[in-house]
Amino acid sequence: MTAPAAVPRRVLAFAAHPDDVDFGAAGTVAAWAAAGAQVTYCVMTAGDAGGFEPGDRDAVPDLRSAEQRAAAELVGVHDVRFLGERDGYLEPNHRVISQVVALIREVRPDVVLSMHPERNWDRIQASHPDHLACGEIVTRAVYPAAENPFAYPELAESGLAAWKVPWLWFYGAPRERENRAVDVTDTVERKLAAIRLHASQHPDLAHMEASVRGFLQDNAARHGLPAGRSAEVFHAVGVNTPDTIAGF
Ligand SMILES: [Zn+2]
Repeated sequence: MTAPAAVPRRVLAFAAHPDDVDFGAAGTVAAWAAAGAQVTYCVMTAGDAGGFEPGDRDAVPDLRSAEQRAAAELVGVHDVRFLGERDGYLEPNHRVISQVVALIREVRPDVVLSMHPERNWDRIQASHPDHLACGEIVTRAVYPAAENPFAYPELAESGLAAWKVPWLWFYGAPRERENRAVDVTDTVERKLAAIRLHASQHPDLAHMEASVRGFLQDNAARHGLPAGRSAEVFHAVGVNTPDTIAGF
């Protein structure tokens, strides 16, 4: 399996909830964006079941989308889309999959980032049902629908031509699936600053920060990086690389 270019030109990152991509991949995104990558975020739900305050629940979606836009700006992402699905109800159905296919064909990414469709039994909090649904939706959209011009034919008719995604990188993968570690030591502080901007989600900032730093350092150690480094980890899948053959 060949590696993607060190810095992809266009990246499309999917998440189930506002804040997921910041916990999973913002260090890598910050490095890629700083090196010139164009990055688009797509958050599938409004995050309306998140937070810890029972008060004005109707205000939660606007608050959380504003937090996500601010966090995106901080790591160099200026294009943030929301699909507006209800938090806790995300399902891999054709209505949502076709929206994801449309976005992939619009952005034409070199790398699609997504949550993982398989449950992590070592840390079940990583595997909220919406996260698994996000992973399944994106996987079905990347292959075969995005690259098959006869899938969801109304998209091609509206001018969205088929697009072959070279790489699908999952974050939040079960540990046995991890096959790529990105050294994010230089962007850890910006990643943490981005996570902090999801202020409605953090009842205990100090504990959150210590946990994230610990996870990133554990990742680096597990993947053989030098002591003191931090890493984000992925399950990288080559979808259309020189090693693959086409077939629907
Ligand atoms: Zn989430």
